Amino acid sequence: MSLERLPNYLGGRWISGTGTPTSLFDPVLGTALVQVDATGLDLKDGFRFAREQGGAALRALTYRQRAELLAAIAQLLQKHRDAYYEIALANSGTVKNDSAIDIDGAIYTVGTYAKLGASLPDAHFLREGEPASLAKDAAFQSLHVQTPVAGLALFINAFNFPSWGLWEKAAPALLSGVPVVVKPATATAWLTQRMVKDVVDAGILPAGALSVVCGSSAGLLDALEPFDVLSFTGSAETAATLRSHAAVTRLSVRTNIEADSINSALLMPDTRAGDATFDAFIKEVAREMTVKSGQKCTAIRRAFVPAALFDDVATALRERLAKVVVGNPRNETVRMGALVSRAQLSAVREGLSQLQRHTRTLLDGNAAPIVDADPKVACCLGPTLLGLDTPEAVEATAAVHDIEVFGPVAALLPYADLPRGLAQIRRGQGSLVASVYGADDAALARAALALAPGHGRVHVVTPQTAALHTGHGNVMPQSLHGGPGRAGGGEELGGLRALNFYHRRTAIQSGPSVLTQLQET
Ligand code: NAP
Repeated sequence: MSLERLPNYLGGRWISGTGTPTSLFDPVLGTALVQVDATGLDLKDGFRFAREQGGAALRALTYRQRAELLAAIAQLLQKHRDAYYEIALANSGTVKNDSAIDIDGAIYTVGTYAKLGASLPDAHFLREGEPASLAKDAAFQSLHVQTPVAGLALFINAFNFPSWGLWEKAAPALLSGVPVVVKPATATAWLTQRMVKDVVDAGILPAGALSVVCGSSAGLLDALEPFDVLSFTGSAETAATLRSHAAVTRLSVRTNIEADSINSALLMPDTRAGDATFDAFIKEVAREMTVKSGQKCTAIRRAFVPAALFDDVATALRERLAKVVVGNPRNETVRMGALVSRAQLSAVREGLSQLQRHTRTLLDGNAAPIVDADPKVACCLGPTLLGLDTPEAVEATAAVHDIEVFGPVAALLPYADLPRGLAQIRRGQGSLVASVYGADDAALARAALALAPGHGRVHVVTPQTAALHTGHGNVMPQSLHGGPGRAGGGEELGGLRALNFYHRRTAIQSGPSVLTQLQET
């Protein structure tokens, strides 16, 4: 039986590729599901349509009108939620709670931007502050305005968040008045394609406002023009290729990169084994290692603990992780599903064996039983905890600070004192998030500020917040996502800050009579 070939949506119409399609697989059962192919698409023409039709129609609306479109999209996605869960189960091999992070996380993010947009002026541009006087008596002034960029937003996304990865970018772009072309990672493109299809079929957005290209990325960057923006999420290696493309180097296409990150969690020195802080740390490290089988850019990869607590933490983590049932997410006892593909499983095994050359294995995920699935077929691996025994070993070892294993793998690392612990965190060379667990508010605040320059987000957990915090790895639309250095140097979300990327800031200089008219436009 031939598989359905998912059409692309570009230039305001559905088009199938004309080349050899690529199949998408169920990572638990190994069965082929659907196919994608972008061969033969006229990308330049499709991008022109998005800019000219989609962009113009979106910019003709005000922020509040576009916020209403987002509210309608959130409602529509909610209506089709069950179908998205089925696709996620089949194509990503995730348990329901993990699919929720991707699907419900996306709906929540779109809904949040709909609400934020309703608080914006009913206008077509944003003014920044008050005019600054450039001459005597304020007769000549400078007013900074932000107008939506005049091009399109191209999103090249990673495989691990086919739903949230689309909407955390598309919500602020569409609210800004910028048309979107999304190219999902091939392995999990189905869910992205289905969501775009539902929104297109519902006729919520103007023609050209939302397009999807599934399959090869060939030619996408060649079709970019100077006023477009590019947002990439994926590996540092691909990011480097994109950064060197002429669209970026010669046309100055504004680019946002979200890449690898060796995120950390740190248990403060005043913790005692078994106290509330200790328990919160154990719970969160175990959760971060296993949610989405560790395929989260924000997952904890390095867990720093006071040297005196190393054995207690190792024991508690081992006990907790050993209880995680791994296997077919269709079985209701299973808590952790599969990695996304055989290729990803091999990459994780390869990265793991590199790390194992430098560390001790405290819990071996290869030994975990795989429930209700054929281990030769299913892309499953149990949680794997590595460790180094002494602070000196942590300081002498580069691998744990350098190698991102994108799976259920973390390293437990002892530190001698807090300054040295914080210095080891900095060896990650810039991360998306660090979390700190303690009970001394002043010491926690100092640690948070010390970590801030190297991170996009610092997540501080105290006994008072242990039951209500949003999670080390959960990206909330109100908070900034992105990190410096190795994490890509990007910034996303953070409430209305996200709109900056999709706007051009301009200083308009004139007398007050003209500037007043601008405010009335
Ligand atoms: P990847 O291999 O770099 O792929 C990412 C995207 O880039 C995919 O859509 C891929 O398409 C596309 N691509 C590959 N080569 C390209 C090229 N030469 N030109 C243009 N596009 C190209 O990354 P991945 O394996 O999907 O994702 C895992 C990585 O993403 C991890 O390292 C993780 O840390 C990172 N990540 C970061 C964040 C964050 O927010 N910082 C979030 C999630 C993941 P194909 O799939 O068709 O190859």
